[in-house]
Amino acid sequence: MLAYSTFKEIHALFTRGHFEAARRMLMELQARYIALCDEVGMLKKQVQEFEDILFLAQNLITEEGQYWLRAGGIKHGPFCKSCYEYTGKLFRLESHKNVWRCPYCGLLHSRTPEPRQALAVNSSPAGQGRILPFRLPIKHC
Ligand SMILES: [Zn+2]
Repeated sequence: MLAYSTFKEIHALFTRGHFEAARRMLMELQARYIALCDEVGMLKKQVQEFEDILFLAQNLITEEGQYWLRAGGIKHGPFCKSCYEYTGKLFRLESHKNVWRCPYCGLLHSRTPEPRQALAVNSSPAGQGRILPFRLPIKHC
């Protein structure tokens, strides 16, 4: 901790002409201050991460078989459910005719909600998809 009394002690040492002792105390104080600043920076980053997690927990909803994010009174999305569950990141699905397509993993998501949705991967160069069960591993770029 950076105590006021330590600063007063350093000031008194300078006033009495004990420059070397005052300089050493000042250097120690400076090192502690730098360590505290580093710790505060790390703690602020952790708090921001926890706030982000809390925000997602409170505002990420599932509708129509997809993830949606409520923010600023607007429902954003849909987002790729598979990518979020595997990576923790939200990727907004792109609209393609009658399906949603994930720009990250390439999975196609049905626009009509079903209890166990079948997903298609658009992996062929011709743009033809094949139907895969919901929980197969995803290849990421
Ligand atoms: Zn995805």
